[in-house]
Amino acid sequence: MERVSERRDTTTTLPAAYHSPQLDVAVRLNTNEAPSGPPPVWLDELVDGVRRLEWNRYPDRDATALRTAIAAHHGVDLANVFAANGSNEVLQSILMAFGGRGRTAATFEPSYLLHRHIAEITGTSVVSGERNDHFDLAPAVVADVLGSHRPDVTFLCSPNNPTGNVMSRDVLATALDLVSGETAASGAAGVVVVDEAYAQFASWSSLDLVGEHRPLAVVRTFSKTWGLAGLRLGYAVAPRQIVAQLERVALPYHLDAAKQLAGTLALRHVGAMNDRVAQIVAERERLTSELRTLDIDVFDSEANFVLFRPRSRAGHDVWQALVDRGVLVRDCSSWPRLQGCLRVTVGTVDEDDAFLAAMHEAMIAVPT
Ligand SMILES: *Cc1c(COP(=O)(O)O)cnc(C)c1O
Repeated sequence: MERVSERRDTTTTLPAAYHSPQLDVAVRLNTNEAPSGPPPVWLDELVDGVRRLEWNRYPDRDATALRTAIAAHHGVDLANVFAANGSNEVLQSILMAFGGRGRTAATFEPSYLLHRHIAEITGTSVVSGERNDHFDLAPAVVADVLGSHRPDVTFLCSPNNPTGNVMSRDVLATALDLVSGETAASGAAGVVVVDEAYAQFASWSSLDLVGEHRPLAVVRTFSKTWGLAGLRLGYAVAPRQIVAQLERVALPYHLDAAKQLAGTLALRHVGAMNDRVAQIVAERERLTSELRTLDIDVFDSEANFVLFRPRSRAGHDVWQALVDRGVLVRDCSSWPRLQGCLRVTVGTVDEDDAFLAAMHEAMIAVPT
């Protein structure tokens, strides 16, 4: 879910809907899902709990048990946690609360297209800075965009999708300095949003910096590291003031009772999640070094996917050759700044072996 096929002026029409093309092939490594779900004991606990739910009653509107479990996991207060139906709904809530007509959001491209897309859906203007050719983001670019546009919402994504790299600590410090300074000077409440969908795969997280007097919201999801893309659950960790603003725009009872329970129970199995993450990181390193033996530029990743650009063959031809061999990766080859690039999600050892075998053939195969 991260491709917008067409963009329109939101003053007249809404942007085109998002879609992530799916094909019925044996090995699907195109949407950055985890290759496995939570441990079987989680499912037993969930089934038990679901039997005991009072289905005639509305769920806990404040999602207290879930938010308490998330807060405990991160060592913050319940009042610092906003939960929603996937981190995409968290992003939408942020834009409803802090964006909208007459307001501006900043993105640093190429990055997760949903940031821009949801901004446009909510009528928020979008300004952008550019990453360099290695997709690194320079603090100077952040300073320039934030200094000249003073956006109400600043999106950072670390590790960045689809490029896989993490931002430097200087980037975050620069953004926080400028937005805090602006907030103090004008009273306007800007917010820096760090999308950390892949943070557990990475070397550092912005979470430690969340504090009551910093305009920082860190957004996480159960979709990737927790192996629960089917659950649709995400959250933000932020100062209580920001959480209160997000609660204001959320629909009553937006988190159903089963989801609240499933998320709460998932947090009992942090060990299994960490094991999965360690295994994926090891596989990511293997994929990266194997791909580097081919005639391919491979970008360093701290996520559960790897972006690469075949040197001697067109990206789309390689994508098609992989599909012909039953392997689906994400074709980014026609996206702005990503000419010729493909993105592969790290899968199981077997899936990754199938991908690598197909890659060896694809790099020598005649275009289909
Ligand atoms: C996958 C992804 C998400 C996840 O969105 P959910 O709605 O939680 O499934 C969010 N941000 C980024 C950058 C992603 O790649």
